[in-house]
Amino acid sequence: MIGNPNYRRRACVGVKVGPITIGGDHPIVVQSMTNTDTADVTSTVKQVQQLAAAGSELVRLTVNTEEAAQAVPRIRERLDALGCRVPLIGDFHYNGHLLLSKYEACAEALAKYRINPGNVGFGRKKDAQFATMIEVAARRDKPVRIGVNWGSLDPALVVEMMDANAKLAEPKDVNAVTREALIRSALVSAAKAEELGLARDRIVLSCKVSGVQDLITVYADLAGRCDYALHLGLTEAGMGSKGIVASAAGMGYLLQHGIGDTIRVSLTPEPGGDRTREVVVAQELLQTMGLRSFTPLVTACPGCGRTTSTVFQELAENIQAFVRSQMPIWREHYPGVEDMTLAVMGCVVNGPGESKHANIGISLPGTGEAPSAPVFIDGEKFTTLRGEKIAEEFKQIMLDYVARHYGGQHATADAAPH
Ligand code: SF4
Repeated sequence: MIGNPNYRRRACVGVKVGPITIGGDHPIVVQSMTNTDTADVTSTVKQVQQLAAAGSELVRLTVNTEEAAQAVPRIRERLDALGCRVPLIGDFHYNGHLLLSKYEACAEALAKYRINPGNVGFGRKKDAQFATMIEVAARRDKPVRIGVNWGSLDPALVVEMMDANAKLAEPKDVNAVTREALIRSALVSAAKAEELGLARDRIVLSCKVSGVQDLITVYADLAGRCDYALHLGLTEAGMGSKGIVASAAGMGYLLQHGIGDTIRVSLTPEPGGDRTREVVVAQELLQTMGLRSFTPLVTACPGCGRTTSTVFQELAENIQAFVRSQMPIWREHYPGVEDMTLAVMGCVVNGPGESKHANIGISLPGTGEAPSAPVFIDGEKFTTLRGEKIAEEFKQIMLDYVARHYGGQHATADAAPH
C-alpha cells in the first residue's frame, strides 16, 4: 500500500459483519446500495453481483415491503449459489419491526440491519417499534447501524430541542441545534439499543447530512463523543462531478483526521447509468489518500497544445478500463498488484520523468516528436513502441510484469472477464 504517514485512525470498537469487520484496526470498508426493486430477485441479484465484483465489500438493499422481505432469503441463496458471498444489509424504515418479526428467513439472511431512528414510527409506538427491531438483532446476533439522516430527523426530538434553545438567553442558530439533534438522536438511540441487550460491538453509527461543512462539523463532534464505529457518507451527494467532488471534499477531510470506518459514496446515477460508479469513486477516494489500495491507478497528464491527437487520452482511458476489468482475477492470483502504478503521458516534457516514477510508464509522442513511445519499467527504459498496436503491446508488457512480480502464473488478458 502506498501509505499515508499523516494518518492516525480514531480508536473505536470493531463490529463484525459476516467475514468483514468495520472499525477497530481493520481497513476502512467500502459499501454500496442497490437501486433495484428488492422484490425483483433477478435484477437485485444481478446488481449485487456487479457491485461486489466492482469491490463493494458490503451491499445494502431496501427492505420496504412484505414482497421485498420474502425476496431477501432467495437473493441470498442465489448469490451463494453463484459464489458471491458479499454480506447483505437490510435498510428498514417505518415497518421494519413488522418485517423483521414476521419474516424470520429475511432477518437471518441479512448480515446487518440499518435502522433510522427518525423513521421507526410515531408517538408512543416509536419506542416499542425500535425495541422490537433491536431485540431481533440482539437475539440473532446481528449488528445494527443506527443511521440518522438530516432529512428524516425525529420530529419530536427536534421540536423539544428547538423549544429548549428558544428559552436560552442566547439561543444558538437553527443549524447548530439541528446538528446537535442529529448527534443526540444517534447517541441516545445507541444507548437505548445497549440497554435493550445489543452489545457495543454490534453497533455502528452514522449521522448523514447533504452539506460538506455540516458533514465535517457533525462527524468531528460525533467522533469525539463516542467510540462506536462510524459509517461515513454524504447523503444525497448529487449527480456527476458535483456528487463526487462534494463527497471527496467532506469525506476526504474527515478520513484524513482518522474519522470513518466504512464509507459509502451516495451518487445519483445518470438515467441508465452504472451503479458501480459509487464503488469505484469510494475506492479511488481511499486509494488516492493512501488509506487502502484496490486497483492499479493510471497517472496521466492533462494533455495540452503539445498533444494534438486523441491517441493519448484514449490510451489512458483504455489502460485504466483494462486494469479494472482484470482486477476480479488479478485480486485472486496476484496479491499486491493493487499497488502497481502506471503512467500514460502525452509528450516528452514530463513524460519520461513521470513514467520513470511509475512501475510501468509510457510517454507518447507529442506534436512534432518522432512517432515512438518509450516504455519505462521500474525507472529503467525497457523498450520503444511504434505503430498502430501500441495499446495492445503496452497491455502485454503490463500483463508480463504482473505475472513476473505478483505471481507465479503467466497473466493473460483472456483469463479475465471483460
Ligand atoms: S506531459 Fe506534455 S502533453 Fe502532457 S501536459 Fe505536459 S507538456 Fe502537455
